[in-house]
Amino acid sequence: MSYQNDVEIFMNSGSQPVQKELSMDNDEAKLYMKLISEEYNETLDAFKKSDLVELADGLADMVWVIMGMCNSCGIQFDNVWKEVRASNMSKFVDGKAIKNEYGKIMKPKTYFKPNIKNALGLEKT
Ligand SMILES: [Mg+2]
Repeated sequence: MSYQNDVEIFMNSGSQPVQKELSMDNDEAKLYMKLISEEYNETLDAFKKSDLVELADGLADMVWVIMGMCNSCGIQFDNVWKEVRASNMSKFVDGKAIKNEYGKIMKPKTYFKPNIKNALGLEKT
């Protein structure tokens, strides 16, 4: 199962172009950016109202429109996620966070930034 693939099927069914090449200069990208904003606000409202059902609905809708944005821009989300996950996990040493005296999680020597260009296939490593 892939969230991005589910949304691709939806977009194909609704005659919304799915980009295979990287590009954000298209009508679908503009539409999905607007939808992300709308769904974020719905989710925020649900949170403010302490409505857990609406919150869950809003979170799923946000994932949906974010996947729609990726499909509109030719972004293979799994590749980006793997890079961000690896970067975040590099903050832990032996599975533990290094915190300073105030509890802030510090970036240890093992930390590396996500290489998003590489995840997008824009750079060879
Ligand atoms: Mg919604």
